[in-house]
Amino acid sequence: MNVAIWLQRTAQLYPERPALYSGDRLTATYSALGEQTCRLAGGLTDKLRLQPGDRVAVYMPNAPEYLALLYAVWHAGGAAVPINYKLHPKEAAFIVENAGARAVFVASAAAALDLQAALDDHTDGPELIDLEGESFRELQAAQSLPEPATRARDDLAWLFYTSGTTGQPKGVMITHGNIHAMSFSYFVDVDEVRTDDVALYAAPMSHGAGLYNFMHVLRGAAHSVPESGGFDPAEILALGRSLKSVHMFAAPTMVRRLVDRAKAEGADGEGIRTIVYGGGPMYVADIEDAVAAMGPRFVQIYGQGECPMTITALPRNMVADRSHPRWRERLGSVGFAQSCVEVRILKEDGTPCAVGEDGEIAVHGAAVMAGYWQNGEATEKSLRDGWLWTGDVGRMDADGFVTLTDRSKDVIISGGTNIYPREVEEVLLQLEDIAEVSVIGSPDAEWGEVIVAFVVPRDGAQLSEAELDAHCLANMARFKRPKTYLFIDALPKNAYGKVLKTDLRQRLSDTRT
Ligand code: AMP
Repeated sequence: MNVAIWLQRTAQLYPERPALYSGDRLTATYSALGEQTCRLAGGLTDKLRLQPGDRVAVYMPNAPEYLALLYAVWHAGGAAVPINYKLHPKEAAFIVENAGARAVFVASAAAALDLQAALDDHTDGPELIDLEGESFRELQAAQSLPEPATRARDDLAWLFYTSGTTGQPKGVMITHGNIHAMSFSYFVDVDEVRTDDVALYAAPMSHGAGLYNFMHVLRGAAHSVPESGGFDPAEILALGRSLKSVHMFAAPTMVRRLVDRAKAEGADGEGIRTIVYGGGPMYVADIEDAVAAMGPRFVQIYGQGECPMTITALPRNMVADRSHPRWRERLGSVGFAQSCVEVRILKEDGTPCAVGEDGEIAVHGAAVMAGYWQNGEATEKSLRDGWLWTGDVGRMDADGFVTLTDRSKDVIISGGTNIYPREVEEVLLQLEDIAEVSVIGSPDAEWGEVIVAFVVPRDGAQLSEAELDAHCLANMARFKRPKTYLFIDALPKNAYGKVLKTDLRQRLSDTRT
């Protein structure tokens, strides 16, 4: 079943209910949103000749129009490719081309020019549609109001690009069926949603925060995009007070900043009903502090693009209720398996680990992706006999609570966003004067981890931090830039020539003590 039907049903059932807010200013009811979506879908079909299964990318900051665009693509039978707006146009261009997108929605003519400049020139390149331009107005003026296209459970709905150890992002194929499973599990395992709730998009809608739109559309709850377009703790607290029953997804970094602001204001987060946190490790002391300052508003989830938002959950009562003898231990876990999946801890040979023994977390069930887009090799590595090997290392206790202990993938999580060292290393290595480079994450109280680059200059070359920083700024997203550069004569390596990142971590902590 096509997920676009959910929006049309809600528009039928609750036409007058508020659907979209810009901050706390109402911009559309469900009947208006339903109609706009239908018209846009008509435009995509009539004017762009979009065929079922065609990909359409959305590369723009959070905006109230974002949902109309996504649902129009699904309504017309297409697959959406939401791209993190913080990515550099060159990185976005890679995704657009890899996905073979027929069209890309961008916010402005300037954004279209930047993306166009980064795209390879070929005649059948994607149509760039800027929301301020004539072609968008024409799409919306379509005369036909089609019914949502018929889509099967296994059809692609959302192509989610996740960075890979190979340095190039991979497209995770999330099907309509995956979205059904994720959404229904949410109601059972994570939280209820009420019609007077408002989903607040304080994190990029191209990622987890955006995936949470479905539960709110299903219930006829509203959606708000902060006017700042991003995460401003004071604005979020004010929106809680004015919108009254707010739901939001927040990475641990955001939770910490929100709690600090609440404390400074003497506020307790009034009006924010639920904060779902996840996407990166949360320190026990931080979540304890958050609950002490803001009360029982927190629920944890653990997921990944390959099993969106739906591996485990730690529900509100278990986060907040200190009466359980093992409450603190549980708080350090990511909770237990969500209803539509089975979770196991596996040894390298695929046999299950004993209770309490560390192994790779594997997951099986209706929320697990169909595979990586046009990348059979990566799919085979991650999906074995229907089990998704997450790359996360952890253990399970006798009650089924999972605690993450490590990541077997080399990923750095900074501010809840995954950054693969290889991506940063490859950009730096474009510079002639760099002989070798190795990038690691360094623990950071605010961001979880920050990026540190160890750089080996070529013989005789003089490199400055400013020069490296400028190169990174010109070639990749700002948030992936190293915070610190350390120049060294040679990288420590093992007998096989593999860089010893543990040695680098040690050196870093030595330089800091
Ligand atoms: P992404 O695919 O960008 O959503 O990133 C998923 C990765 O983030 C997971 O594989 C974990 O390593 C990490 N992650 C997600 N949720 C949590 C959580 N609740 N606690 C710790 N790490 C998490």
